[in-house]
Amino acid sequence: MKSSGFCFAFTLGSALATSAADGTNWKRVFDAWKAPCDPFRIASNVYYVGASGVSSFLIATREGHVLIDTGFEETVGVIRTNMARLGFRIEDVKLLLSSHAHMDHVGGHALMKELTGVKIVMSEADAALLASGGTNDIGPMASDQMMVYRPARADRIVRDGDSVSLGGVTLTCHLTPGHTRGATTWTMPVEEDERRVNVVFFSSLTLLEGTRLRGNPKYRTLVEDYRATFAKLRALPCDIFLAPHAGMFGMADKAARAARGERPNPFIDHTSLLKAVSAAETVVNAQLAKESSAAKLN
Ligand SMILES: [Zn+2]
Repeated sequence: MKSSGFCFAFTLGSALATSAADGTNWKRVFDAWKAPCDPFRIASNVYYVGASGVSSFLIATREGHVLIDTGFEETVGVIRTNMARLGFRIEDVKLLLSSHAHMDHVGGHALMKELTGVKIVMSEADAALLASGGTNDIGPMASDQMMVYRPARADRIVRDGDSVSLGGVTLTCHLTPGHTRGATTWTMPVEEDERRVNVVFFSSLTLLEGTRLRGNPKYRTLVEDYRATFAKLRALPCDIFLAPHAGMFGMADKAARAARGERPNPFIDHTSLLKAVSAAETVVNAQLAKESSAAKLN
């Protein structure tokens, strides 16, 4: 298998720096994220089958497969091709989970369901966002045509601590609201190098530009929820950190090192989750300080 050398992994930070209101910039960023990428095994039965900037993770089992995120509607074709290259059939995906219900991670859910009859498993709040096609979101971009997608209906609602099982694999749902109301982090143990390691499929903590934290009429408990999410993620055992954007977990670099046969597995990473939490907390605190000083001036 070729290495994923041609992946063009834009980071979410650079995307957000291009400004929320500018549809042209978002289109350029999204087009880069949709570029095809070589699939590869991450660890045990966990594979990367997504596009170069938006992740899709396949957990293969003898009774069918679990997929986390479809990316955009256009990247469902990338997933199908990547699965075939690894010897899997898209028709065998039985459960579809999500990191959070934004168009770059669930935009392909409706098409995937049409193609495979897959069961969509989601938190209640993100299921509502999915059903609205992204239009009832908390941020200022909710009504932007670039951010809406074909709606889909969830088949099963999961709550915090629920587990989802298939073919001997069990994933645990951790509600980590903030980026969306129903943002969900999934975890599962796998055997790698003859030891048990915890894989964390991180949701996102990014505070979208222009989102008001205090007194947000669309999300009254946003600050409290962010704080609780930070604490919850800091307490989560994490040996392998995976995230909905390739750039968020250093995918290209780790995949290249794995392709060279580096041991221990370069995806073993005990620091990136904690760094992601601290970085997000800094952003949230800075935004709260900005909102406080603006309030004093008024
Ligand atoms: Zn998002």
